[in-house]
Amino acid sequence: MATFVSRSAWGARAPKKTSSDFDPSRGGVAVHHTGDVRFAASSHSRCASQVRGIQNHHMDANGWDDIAYTYLVCVHGYVFEGRGVGVRTAANGTNDSNYRYYAVCGLVGGTSASYDTITDQLIDGFRTAIARLRSVGNAAAAITGHKSFLATECPGVLGRHMSAMEPGSGDGGDPTDPTDPPPGVPQWPGVLLHYPPVTTHSSARTWQQRMRDRGWTISVDGAYGEGSRRVCLAFQAEKGLSVDGVVGEKTWYASWNAPITATALRGDRVSEPGAAPNWPGVLFSWPPKTVHPAVRTWQRQMRDLGWDVGVNGAYDQRSREACRAFQKARGLTVDGVVGPATWYAAWYATS
Ligand SMILES: [Zn+2]
Ligand SMILES: [Zn+2]
Repeated sequence: MATFVSRSAWGARAPKKTSSDFDPSRGGVAVHHTGDVRFAASSHSRCASQVRGIQNHHMDANGWDDIAYTYLVCVHGYVFEGRGVGVRTAANGTNDSNYRYYAVCGLVGGTSASYDTITDQLIDGFRTAIARLRSVGNAAAAITGHKSFLATECPGVLGRHMSAMEPGSGDGGDPTDPTDPPPGVPQWPGVLLHYPPVTTHSSARTWQQRMRDRGWTISVDGAYGEGSRRVCLAFQAEKGLSVDGVVGEKTWYASWNAPITATALRGDRVSEPGAAPNWPGVLFSWPPKTVHPAVRTWQRQMRDLGWDVGVNGAYDQRSREACRAFQKARGLTVDGVVGPATWYAAWYATS
């Protein structure tokens, strides 16, 4: 099951500019790979920094407006948003192909077969990306290799797997296949609900109603704004999803399929809403000290859990040490910074 990674989630720089001089209904999707070096990361924790590196290279060394690709897919099955839907690409090598084709790049390796790492998750990621480009990005049916436009080895060994990238092919057993939603569950609409800016879409209302039915305090107005995002963050943290505040395919289906009650760490059975205060939207870090009213809230909770922190409203070295130990104990990224995942983990068990 592929997971989309938004630009903010991988730390993208803003594009210098974007062009919508683009008509993929006259072309489709072009497949690329990263060339000439072993590239597939053994651990997914490295993939976001690889994508940032590609963006830096394209913008700073090549002088382009943004990372050239529409999406980038890693061997772990994550789909990183590059230029995204509706934006002209710079990867296909000719004006005509950049005008007519999206560009999706596999983070696999070089032209030597021994460099390429082809995994089922990678192919599934391509399938998911291409399904989205067709459903919301107006892409025509073609799936072709970069080398169909000009002389290049790209996409290397990946070119032999293009027929498997056709949406609907593959094992057919994926419960998140957009053509086959689980019974009683509305099909994921293929639209990412995110904020900012506010996402206004009929599916936002469907999701909000579902979350309200689950007991969350949320406006059902079809506009995914700050309040919706906070509910999303808390829900993702509670359910062990990646905590990015974006309702994508995984979060959408979890909103219907995940069990409704959570076990708070203090041992009470509690319903979902209100068990954790909303993440305040401020990262706590040291040095220098972060001073914020919510720091005290977090410190009190940590103290109640038995961690060695002072409850003083200032995120100091002692708080940071406790945070790092807590993150390590919970299997979170150990960076000593309290962001949304670490915040909610202090109130919710992760399993
Ligand atoms: Zn290419
Ligand atoms: Zn990865």
